[in-house]
Amino acid sequence: MRYGIVSDIHSNLPAFEAVLSKLKKEVDSFLCLGDIVGYGAQPNECCALVRELKAICVAGNHDWGAVGKMSLDYFNPYAAEAIIWTAEKLKNENWEFISALPETYEEKIFTIVHGSLSEPIEEYLLSSSQARDTFSLLKTHILFFGHTHIPTLFLQRKGEMMVATIPLRGDVVINIKDDYRYLINPGSVGQPRDGIPLASAAVYDNERKEVRIFRIEYPIEEAQRSIISAGLPLVLAERLSFGW
Ligand code: ZN
Repeated sequence: MRYGIVSDIHSNLPAFEAVLSKLKKEVDSFLCLGDIVGYGAQPNECCALVRELKAICVAGNHDWGAVGKMSLDYFNPYAAEAIIWTAEKLKNENWEFISALPETYEEKIFTIVHGSLSEPIEEYLLSSSQARDTFSLLKTHILFFGHTHIPTLFLQRKGEMMVATIPLRGDVVINIKDDYRYLINPGSVGQPRDGIPLASAAVYDNERKEVRIFRIEYPIEEAQRSIISAGLPLVLAERLSFGW
C-alpha cells in the first residue's frame, strides 16, 4: 500500500492542489495529520478535498480552534484572527467533519497525530527529549506527526534510549529498518517554515519500506491574493514567500 501524507494544509488550496497533482498518480490512500484550516483563505475547499480523498485524518490545533473546541488564548493574534474568520466561513458539513476528527489514529505499523503522543493537539515536537517521551508512548513502528511545519526525522534504535534528530532538507528518502523506530514529520503543505517556500508532503510505501519526502512548487501569489482579498492579516500572505 502507498499512502500520500499531507499535514498543515492551512486552507492553502493552490499548495494542496499542487501536492495532490503528484500524489494522486502515486498513492492508493491518504493520511492527513491535521490543521486543514487556519491562516489561509480557502478552508471549505480544502476540507472538501480531504473528505473527497477519504483521507484518514486527525485533528490539529487550528481545526479545533475553528470549531470552538480550543480557546483562542492559545494562539498568536494573527492566527486567532484567521481562526475567527474561518469559523465564520466554515460550512456546516465541514464544521461537523472537523468536530468529529480524532486526536490520534493507529494501525498495525503506524500511528498518526498532529502534535505528539504526550499532547496530541498542542505539543511542538522539536527536541530529542520530547521525542524520547513520545517514543515511550508509541506502540507502532512509525509515527507520522505535524504541527511544527518543519520536515524532521527522529530515530531510535529499538531497546535503546538515545534519539537522533535529523532535519530533512529538500527531497529525501527514508529507508525503514526493522531494528529502528521512527517519528517522521513530512513538513507543511500550506505554510512551510523551514526557509524553503515550496509545499512539502510525503509518500509512504509500506511494501518497499520507504518514506519519501518531496517539495513541490505552487502558485504562491494565488494563495497570497486570496488571503489579501479575504481581509486576513497581510503577514499571513507575506510569510508564504519566505517559508517561515
Ligand atoms: Zn499548523
